[in-house]
Amino acid sequence: MSAMFSWLTKAQSLFSPSASPCLTCGKRISGSSPFPGVCRICAESIPWIRSPRCLKCGRHVGCPDCTRSTEPSPIICNRSAVAYNSDMREWLGQYKYRGNERYALLLGLMLDRAYLTLKKEKQSTLLSREPSIIHRSWSADLLVPVPVSDSRLMERGFNQAERLADVLSRRRKVQQLPLLIRTHHTGKQSFKSRAERLADMKHAFAENPAVTTQFADLMKREVPLNRPVRIIIVDDIYTTGSTIRACAEIIQQIGLDYGYTIEVYSLTWARS
Ligand SMILES: [Zn+2]
Ligand SMILES: [Zn+2]
Repeated sequence: MSAMFSWLTKAQSLFSPSASPCLTCGKRISGSSPFPGVCRICAESIPWIRSPRCLKCGRHVGCPDCTRSTEPSPIICNRSAVAYNSDMREWLGQYKYRGNERYALLLGLMLDRAYLTLKKEKQSTLLSREPSIIHRSWSADLLVPVPVSDSRLMERGFNQAERLADVLSRRRKVQQLPLLIRTHHTGKQSFKSRAERLADMKHAFAENPAVTTQFADLMKREVPLNRPVRIIIVDDIYTTGSTIRACAEIIQQIGLDYGYTIEVYSLTWARS
């Protein structure tokens, strides 16, 4: 069993029926809940983004950023599972900063919902363009987690984005590959100006030389040549989009190098 799946199995076994208290409120779970580890009341409080107001970045409220920007975007769109409210901040904090691994499966399953929504959305677009092709279904070819720096990895012990992508990868049978590496640590982006963020991000990511052959083989094997390659960048949170855009630009460059047209999407657990 690979390391990737052993943590998942471990995580799933933590949700075994032997009534453990709710992961988030600590109360006893009675009856069934749509999500593992949380009680029905907590599950019902999840602020799902069911239909985004901004079709570009998936934001649930009006979005001046996307309407103002005239720059071409390296991603087709971002979709997020939930709006980042105070509850979700607490859940992410438990998972990411306090290292509570039981959240990985829960958050991963929530991200899976966002994937299904994206899939449905893309399928209906395909269908409206080519109504004769009823059987055609949309799915991603590859998941690429946003990498963290080595020092972050040491400190945290895991890459939170990779763990979320693991859940999705296993449920939807879409491969995951660490196509990118983080070349330097950029600090907290939300306190910086737009110009600072852009400058910071420009060299923050690079192609991961360890997987380039694997990537080339995968593309050759998996992707029919009559359509662009669909790659989804996976991360925990979308705030300004600068991280996702920086990653997408590298992926677009890799596509050019290999001679593939790539459609880059991003799926993030929360949209702030
Ligand atoms: Zn609860
Ligand atoms: Zn937007």
